[in-house]
Amino acid sequence: MSFKINRKITRQIHVGTVKIGGNAPIAVQSMTNTHTQDIAATVAQIHRLEAAGCEIIRVAVPDDEAAAAISAIKKKISIPVIADIHFDYKLAISAAESGADGLRINPGNIGGKNKIKAVVDAAKTNDIPIRIGVNAGSLEKDLIKKHGGVTVNALVESALKQIDLMASFNFSNIKLAIKSANVPQSIDAYRQLSAKTDFPLHVGITEAGGLFSGIVKSAVGIGMLLSEGIGDTLRVSLTRDPTEEVRVGFEILKALGIRQRGVEIISCPTCGRCNINLFEIAETIEKKLLTKTKPIKIAIMGCVVNGPGEAKEADVGIAGGDGTGILFKKGQVVKKFPQEQLVSELLKAVDEFEDKK
Ligand code: SF4
Repeated sequence: MSFKINRKITRQIHVGTVKIGGNAPIAVQSMTNTHTQDIAATVAQIHRLEAAGCEIIRVAVPDDEAAAAISAIKKKISIPVIADIHFDYKLAISAAESGADGLRINPGNIGGKNKIKAVVDAAKTNDIPIRIGVNAGSLEKDLIKKHGGVTVNALVESALKQIDLMASFNFSNIKLAIKSANVPQSIDAYRQLSAKTDFPLHVGITEAGGLFSGIVKSAVGIGMLLSEGIGDTLRVSLTRDPTEEVRVGFEILKALGIRQRGVEIISCPTCGRCNINLFEIAETIEKKLLTKTKPIKIAIMGCVVNGPGEAKEADVGIAGGDGTGILFKKGQVVKKFPQEQLVSELLKAVDEFEDKK
């Protein structure tokens, strides 16, 4: 029996043209690391993120210049922009007025009720949602005291308090994030929050690290939550170029069979039967196919005897050994050629597969 994810159906909100929650596809987000006020650099990075498949982009808004830049940035890009605000509620209002499609605030560091209400009023006036970002690193001091530390219960209570606060302003155009750099803590917090609310959830593991640890932590944390049906949009957080975050986000969704985008690679780890440089071949092919967007499963296998059978589910695949390369489709060998042509034959087969779709 195949594994089926029972997705929790949450309320649906809109971030610009992108639907979040309900039955909408789980959207992949990222955040720029340029100075937002440097409009040219920020737009250039967002263009690269769009090409990688990013569906919503968040930008830091540390000052008035950054808030004002949103208006110019939006004219040159196609995906919605979320303004990330810390501490100064006036910046949230300026960002909303500048055309941000959503605001991300941590009410814990925005200040008193009146300031948060002013932000909510700006969101209402501009008809944009607010993402309430509860973060283990900036949890309210009274909750830390009450729970004896930054615990799951403290994180969840903080999120529920913020929901109640929004309700007191008659505002429900929200999504929630409850992040920690600790993977088990994040998973537990999201599980509890999901059980207690039907607002859409933005899932992620904060400050997950560099490429290696960041990918593992995000895949485990985000992957476990998604497999349990929790999460309506995601952001992978990596100390790297943000396009890598988008790539990893889609790989997590692809691995769980939730969304398909571009190439899914099946390749063997090699063993004593392998007589070709499979590592180099796989790396070359992966780089060359990075920009593909149509879904296709390809296999890169180390030997002609077992390769086709071990990668039966691949749309197209190659295997090589003893001077001969083979091309196979769904486990059946369809062509033989000199081993040096393995890469070019696979790339040709991918193009043909795309043309037929
Ligand atoms: S496909 Fe061949 S080389 Fe690769 S792991 Fe299997 S048996 Fe070994």
